[in-house]
Amino acid sequence: MAGSKKLTVVISQHQGKNPAKRQLEEELAMQCILDPEVEVSIVPNLYDLSHDHSGMLFLRNIPGDVVVLSWLYPRATHWILDRAGVKGKMGTVLVTSEEEDEEEEDKTPKDEVIGALDIPNRFLYCVDLKATTDAQTYLTEIKRIASEVKTETVDLMSWIQGEPKKEQLERYLDPQTIFGNNNGNGAAAEEEAAEAVSRRWYPVIDYSRCTNCMECIDFCLFGVYGVDILDRILVEEQDSCKKGCPACSRVCPANAIVFPQHKDTGIAGAAGEVANLKIDLSKLFGAPDAVELAARERDVELVRDGRDAVGMAVGIPKRQTIPAQRDDLDDLMDGLDDLDL
Ligand code: SF4
Ligand code: SF4
Repeated sequence: MAGSKKLTVVISQHQGKNPAKRQLEEELAMQCILDPEVEVSIVPNLYDLSHDHSGMLFLRNIPGDVVVLSWLYPRATHWILDRAGVKGKMGTVLVTSEEEDEEEEDKTPKDEVIGALDIPNRFLYCVDLKATTDAQTYLTEIKRIASEVKTETVDLMSWIQGEPKKEQLERYLDPQTIFGNNNGNGAAAEEEAAEAVSRRWYPVIDYSRCTNCMECIDFCLFGVYGVDILDRILVEEQDSCKKGCPACSRVCPANAIVFPQHKDTGIAGAAGEVANLKIDLSKLFGAPDAVELAARERDVELVRDGRDAVGMAVGIPKRQTIPAQRDDLDDLMDGLDDLDL
């Protein structure tokens, strides 16, 4: 197969053991194995992988274009991978979930975003497995992408030809045997223990939106954020984040902070603006605005840690006190007045 067109497909497993989801993953893997243009691997849920997990090492070593099928919104998948050093340009994917269907209005001027660094000339195609339960839709999309791929990559699996043998299927359908997490013994067991994957919770920065304003690092009082040698914001201590809390995503003015497992689809990385209410209708009804809510969420975590709550006294973005938001509200009220209701 050397010299042939080749596309790598990586399936990132769902965190749970839902049989329907497992079945979809396995069906996709099986069909991809039988496709001579595609090589396929399964890894545990990408969000849960540490940067030195063998699944991430594997991903970093894939030379060409990659299709990544995961149960996360594509934006989340792309920036999780980028942070772990699996870099590439965003490939266009035509299979999208309902929440992604509406064209998003991008409010942050492009020249203000800091973007990602060191992007190689290859594409990452991030596909959301929540989009449909129909395996054929994904397979058709993979075929479409394979037909577009110009890069000829090294054939890592030239030994898989024609009908795969039972052990080959087992190897590729059981991520435990490739990337750890199984119950072996002896030295293998130690290695596997180091590879154990458990559920994690941390923010993911979308650098295609981030303006490096540093509001998140000011707001977070748990040491999660840091800066790199170029003074660019980064999530430095992922596991210092407080499980279930999305507070900083609400204060980011660019909606650049994603918590991929949050139930609010906007915070989880779906297209659209949810995390930060620009025209703050909630004010009209006396409910807390996004930043007040974030401060409350942060206080809960501070108190859980045995620290004092700080409310709105620390790290609250200045924009909350400037007239810009009141202007939005004023415009809205003026509009309502004009309606002469
Ligand atoms: S608050 Fe948002 S835009 Fe500002 S540095 Fe943090 S992630 Fe980037
Ligand atoms: S959710 Fe809370 S603890 Fe986690 S990074 Fe944001 S502010 Fe820090």
